[in-house]
Amino acid sequence: MTLYVGVALVVAAVLLFIMQPVVKGLHASLDREENELTETEARKRVALLALRDVEYDFLAGKLDQDDYRSLKSQLTAEALAALEADEAARGAGPAATDSDAAIEAEIARVRAGLKNGVVCIGCSFTNEPGSRFCSACGHALEGATAGGARR
Ligand SMILES: [Zn+2]
Repeated sequence: MTLYVGVALVVAAVLLFIMQPVVKGLHASLDREENELTETEARKRVALLALRDVEYDFLAGKLDQDDYRSLKSQLTAEALAALEADEAARGAGPAATDSDAAIEAEIARVRAGLKNGVVCIGCSFTNEPGSRFCSACGHALEGATAGGARR
């Protein structure tokens, strides 16, 4: 009888020992995310990453053009609103860390596309600045949605 109690205690102790880092780790990662990202930053990233995923899904043929267009316009509106909110929230803003570099580059690409008129009028794909044809559908981009057309 005492043997069984002893075994049970050992098993319980081992289980506690095993679970400890898992429980601690969960708390740590939750804390870290809260500390690293402000609410507006998180919103901006979610919107821009969703926008990028939609583009990739469309290129991969997972979305048809109607779905793509409605998702794109919805997410673009959200991303722009989030960008403005984030800029207003952090003012001048601190320098981006290394881990932010990739997402900042992606944000820059999307913003440049929105500003420089390389968003395709055929399918709404955001193309690299200076593109002449849409990477997604091949539509000519010349003067497509440019604000200030050069002549
Ligand atoms: Zn296109």
